[in-house]
Amino acid sequence: MSISMRELKRPVLFYAKAATALIVVSLVFTAACREAPGPEPAARAAAAVEPALAELIDFLAIPNVASDTVNIRRNAEHLAGMMRKRGIDVRLLEENGAPPVVYGELSAPGARRTLLVYAHYDGQPVEPDRWASDPWTPVLREGRLEDGAAVAPPDRLPTGPDGDEWRLYGRGASDDKGTIVAFLAALDRLKAGGAALSVNVKMLFEGEEEGGSPHLGAILRANPDLFRADGMILCDGPVHQTRRPQVVFGARGVMGLEMTVYGPNHALHSGHYGNWAPNPAAQLAGILASLRDGEGTILVPGFYDDVRPLDESDRAALASIPRVESDLLREFDLAWSEGKGLRLEELVMRPALNVRGLASGAVGEKAANAVPSEARASIDFRLVADQKPARVRELVEAHLKSLGWAVVHEAPDPEAKRRTSRLVRLEWEGGYPAYRAPLDAPFSRALVRALGPATGGTLVVMPALGGSIPMELFDRVLGVPIALFPIANHDNNQHGPNENLRIRNLREGIAMHAALLTGLGAAWD
Ligand SMILES: [Zn+2]
Repeated sequence: MSISMRELKRPVLFYAKAATALIVVSLVFTAACREAPGPEPAARAAAAVEPALAELIDFLAIPNVASDTVNIRRNAEHLAGMMRKRGIDVRLLEENGAPPVVYGELSAPGARRTLLVYAHYDGQPVEPDRWASDPWTPVLREGRLEDGAAVAPPDRLPTGPDGDEWRLYGRGASDDKGTIVAFLAALDRLKAGGAALSVNVKMLFEGEEEGGSPHLGAILRANPDLFRADGMILCDGPVHQTRRPQVVFGARGVMGLEMTVYGPNHALHSGHYGNWAPNPAAQLAGILASLRDGEGTILVPGFYDDVRPLDESDRAALASIPRVESDLLREFDLAWSEGKGLRLEELVMRPALNVRGLASGAVGEKAANAVPSEARASIDFRLVADQKPARVRELVEAHLKSLGWAVVHEAPDPEAKRRTSRLVRLEWEGGYPAYRAPLDAPFSRALVRALGPATGGTLVVMPALGGSIPMELFDRVLGVPIALFPIANHDNNQHGPNENLRIRNLREGIAMHAALLTGLGAAWD
């Protein structure tokens, strides 16, 4: 699509502000940077890159960890400004001093449906030492850092198709500031092209998603009218590993468990007591083997009873998803996968029990010939549609009891340890259920219909994401059908050092959002 004069003029304004922010930030952080950007971002400020990229660079220069209360508010206000500039009616919704939800509305004359758009403007905490450049000083590279791409010299810009493979590095580049900017740039594109919004749009930009969204439920419940909508897109996460765009209609739920098995009150000589004192490490291994087999199947009786079976539309969607397993095996140095030959996308529609850590005694040079005093396992369960965390907890505890274990939730005192054999402590971490929208529901079909042509038939329709996103919260509180509509590249280093956004993903993201905003209304009717 063509770029309007209005858009062409914008970078000058954005860059004036970006330059100030970047100079200040780079002065503060230069010492910490292994590859200091020096004056580079400021020099680039004078050059004309596309407006969305300029706007994103500006936005990324504001540190956005939710616990950094001063800066997170600056992000909220900056974002509110980006929205107001586009004529969006904006409100900051506050709860207990938490990072505000930036809420906005745009109405489309004659539109019959309302789309709620969600993204978060906060980012994961950073470890600057592990970044190649400062996380809050966005830099452009002419490719992937992993492939040796250096920071681009100031006289080079990612213009045209050659720039497609460039990356913008900075915390939040892909998760989710890049997406927010792509969505707002899509609104500009509609305006510039004289195209009309086909749906009313409400925007919900959250500022503490990476901190677990502790206040989001309260904000949603306090503003039921504001968030009333007919469908919702969560603009978070990556596109398909094949780089094809995707729309995802569900996500797994999650819950955590810390499990402790007790032995003697201090480590005992294994020669004197090794087959007499119960060994908690060996006992724990037995428990784990009873919970899950070597193919990842969960052995807890009844665990799969509530799992929603796949229907015909799920199976059809799964069959049309391009296969990525052989590439992934190579990438991860794996010779095989669990799941008895089922494909990855089908396996993530089943629950998982993952042993995320084990601790007991010591290994290697620190190993002692002793019976350890306790053994711990840390587990996360990934839940799928219709499973309830409370039920999972009941089933796991009943299973352990059936094996002769006495289940407690608090640390046992010496008296309890003397009195009770096979004592296991379970500490459950709250979690949340999965969500899955039926693929044949009107909103699901409308999204696919609106995005399909815009993506040249490459759109991947994914019934569920393996990871966990609290989609269920929106379902429960707002009762609105939800889909995940990501734009970021899958190799974006989300949550880790050197988070980045591929320039082509930004460009395609703008085009896809524009297509959605213009086409969704008709596709939905
Ligand atoms: Zn995210």
